[in-house]
Amino acid sequence: MKSLRHKQLIKKAHGSYNGLLFSKEWIAKRKEILERDNYKCRVCNATESLQIHHRQYHFSLILRKFRKPWEYPNRLMITLCKTCHQKGHNKFKVPIKYL
Ligand SMILES: [Zn+2]
Ligand SMILES: [Zn+2]
Repeated sequence: MKSLRHKQLIKKAHGSYNGLLFSKEWIAKRKEILERDNYKCRVCNATESLQIHHRQYHFSLILRKFRKPWEYPNRLMITLCKTCHQKGHNKFKVPIKYL
C-alpha cells in the first residue's frame, strides 16, 4: 500500500547519505559502533568490508528531511559485513519513523 512512496523515501535517505559518508561526524560515529561491535559483523563475525546498518530511518516532519546518519541512537545501528548488509536489505524493509 505504501510501497512506492516508501521506496522513494528510502532512495532519498540513501541518496542523502552518499555525500555524507566521509564527513567527520560520520567517521567518528562509525568508529564508535565498530568499537562497540568489536569490528565484527553481528551476523557472521566477518572482520572485512564492514558497514554500519541503520535499523530505522527517521524522517522529521517539521524539518521535512531525514536525520543525518550519525544522529541516530547507537542502539539503532549495527555493524554488518557488506554481504550480510546486502542480504538484509534484500530481505527486510528498513522502517521509516515519522517524527
Ligand atoms: Zn556478515
Ligand atoms: Zn543498511
